[in-house]
This record gives sequence, structure tokens and C-alpha cells, in this order.
Amino acid sequence: MNITREKIHEILKGYDKKKLKIATICSHTALQIFHGARQEGIKTIGITTEGRKKVYEAFPLGCPDEFIVVDDLRSIPDRELSDENAILVPHGSVVEYSGSKLSSLRVPMLGNRESLAWEKDREKMFKWMTSAGLQVPATIDPDKIDRPCVVKLPGAKGGRGYRVVSTPEEFYEQFEGMNVTVQEYLIGVRVYPHYFYSPLSKEGYRAAEGKLELMGIDRRFESNIDEAYRTDHAGLSFSPSFTVVGNELLVVRESLLEDIMLMGKSMVETADSLFGGIPGPFCLETVCDENLQFFAFEVSARIVAGTNIYPLGSPYTAYLYEEPMSMGRRIAREIKLALRANKLQKIIF
Ligand code: AMP
Repeated sequence: MNITREKIHEILKGYDKKKLKIATICSHTALQIFHGARQEGIKTIGITTEGRKKVYEAFPLGCPDEFIVVDDLRSIPDRELSDENAILVPHGSVVEYSGSKLSSLRVPMLGNRESLAWEKDREKMFKWMTSAGLQVPATIDPDKIDRPCVVKLPGAKGGRGYRVVSTPEEFYEQFEGMNVTVQEYLIGVRVYPHYFYSPLSKEGYRAAEGKLELMGIDRRFESNIDEAYRTDHAGLSFSPSFTVVGNELLVVRESLLEDIMLMGKSMVETADSLFGGIPGPFCLETVCDENLQFFAFEVSARIVAGTNIYPLGSPYTAYLYEEPMSMGRRIAREIKLALRANKLQKIIF
């Protein structure tokens, strides 16, 4: 059964605030989350399997203060975490492993857990983006494919299994009977801005009742499409695939920041009216075309792996903070600020 916002706040009320901890699954952006919490003086808990523990111990400054060892990362030790006064920070692997169970977890989570349902369901996600006035690629009926399209498998699989098709015949050859989405292929430069929305302060770039910060921008390396020129040069034929392997930093021409900030602001304000808001980190996946028009094809309602590029701050946080500020640290900072102002319930539900 879904846990209510009131119940989460009741659990939070029972927490010993002096012993508040930050917890997450050891995966995705965990090194950064633990590192950032350490910089802000908050203790951390890593949920891990026995084998994975060693990886985190290999990075002492990104290692959690304590581990909870589980057999299967799909089972979040809910009760243990709430007994430890923990706030769970959801990242991509938390969403992937825990799925719909997230809405019933009793452990308080950073952000609005309802937003994760909006990122997981493609129809809802597109409703969110189009209601925010963002341009999006057309979704195409397989029988009407008349241009290059990306065929997407369900879920946040990091692009795995996606293919490009240009005709209905090509589509049915590979995807007959499968539950997939066919999306117009966007041509241009991929730009993935990372935002942080804080409802706690009105200083800075205003959005909804608070402020919006642009923390960084990335682009991804996907196998095999991002090294396709090599395959071409080697004279091999190949079919493009989009499995995410890593990320690289991107700085956009400064005149594009206006549109990037406006898209973020609009997503925040639309989230407010559609499902009660999106405090904390989120990211858009966009393509900027040759006319400098942005098209958004995905939103992540949480920290994204692209933020791992700047554990010591990005070319954008340099203008927001005097000290090195990662997204992980920004999260910990927000929890501290909310705690001080007695407003945890504004950022945790
Ligand atoms: P996603 O699962 O939506 O994050 O997509 C994984 C990757 O597929 C993206 O990072 C893009 O490189 C590529 N991709 C997804 N949708 C499109 C699109 N409509 N046009 C072009 N490339 C896309």
C-alpha cells in the first residue's frame, strides 16, 4: 500500500534529528552522495552486497560510514533505515531495483517520491514535459514510420536494446509483439542539464516558491553510436546502439542558458501543479538542433549519473558557491538547511 505524505512526516517527527543520516544503495552516484554528506558533516549508510563493499572501501572519501549488507539490492532494509534516522537518497539504481515498492517504503526519502512514478511511466513523463511547454519528439505509430525513429524498450535501462528503424518493415522484423515506444530520431547535439530546485530560498533564479540552480551539464558516451566514426573508418557496417557507458562534461554557449533555465523553471512549476512538486535534483535529456531549438525526450526526477563528473564542482557551480559543490554535497546541504529551518517536511515526502 502507498504510504501517505502524512505518515512519512509522522515517521520523520519521531527521528532523532541530531543523529540524522543519509543512506543510499551502493551504486550509480553513491560515491558522490557519501562524499558530499561527509563534506557537510552528515553520517552515511551504504546498502550493499558483500562483494560490492570492497569497491567502496577502495575510495575512503566516498565510502559510507556504515554498511548494511543485503543479499539482494532489490530489498531496501526499510525498518533498519528508519530505526537509524536515515533519509534515503533515491538515484537511478534505487529506482531501477526498487520499482513500484518505493511508494510504500516507510523510510523518508529526499524529494517527492510521487515524481519517480512520473519519470518511470513514459506517458506521464511526456505529459509533464508537454504541459511545461517543452518541445518533444513525435511518438510514432509503428505502421506509420516514415523517418528514422528510435525504438525504446520500457524502463530506465540506460539505452540498452534501443535500435533505429526507418520503415514499418524494419520495425516488425525486430520488435514484432514487443511493448516498445517508437520515437522520432532527433538530430543535433545532446545536452543533459542537471538542476537543483530548492523550495527553501527565494534568492537567485526564481521558480515556483523557491529557486532553481543549474548545477552542471553532461553528454553521454553510448556504445556503439558515440564511436561510430571508428567503425566507419574501419569499413565495417554496424547498426547503431545506445547503451550508456559513461559521461562527459559539456559547457554550452552562454546564450543557450536562458532557454535551459526556462525549461527547468517550467518543469518545476508544472511538477507543482501535476503532482505536488519536485524538491531536490532532477535532469532533462534534450537535443539542441541546428536552429538552437531544444527538444526534450526524457526527464529524471532525481540525481543522475552525469553529475559524477564534478565531485568538486562544475563550471556552473563555480558561479553559485564559493566552495566546491557537487550534486551530492548540494543534497546534504539542503537537508542541513531544512533541518535548521525546521522545514524537512518541505523536501522529504
Ligand atoms: P533514454 O533511455 O531515453 O535516456 O535514451 C538513451 C539514449 O538514446 C539517449 O542518451 C540518446 O543518445 C538516445 N536517444 C533517445 N531518444 C532519442 C531520440 N528521440 N533521438 C535521438 N536519440 C535518442
